[in-house]
Amino acid sequence: MGFFEGFKRGVAGDDTQHYSIAGTQVRCAHCGGQDFDTGKSLLNTTGLSLLGLDWANREATVLICTNCSHIDWFLEAPERI
Ligand SMILES: [Zn+2]
Repeated sequence: MGFFEGFKRGVAGDDTQHYSIAGTQVRCAHCGGQDFDTGKSLLNTTGLSLLGLDWANREATVLICTNCSHIDWFLEAPERI
């Protein structure tokens, strides 16, 4: 953890981060925000299986915009920057 990151965490009291994927910083599609909470989610759902989309039964990374709560999904895990 760098100094600034630690400083920011100390002030904000949260775990928001900036992320990059495919060489581009992730920005919220709705509000343009750059701070996200992250989580993992399985794409394996009954609905997908019924639709014959079993190929999608894998884990995705979700980034949740801390400003507007918009959720972006990525099959590849974005890199923390
Ligand atoms: Zn947003």
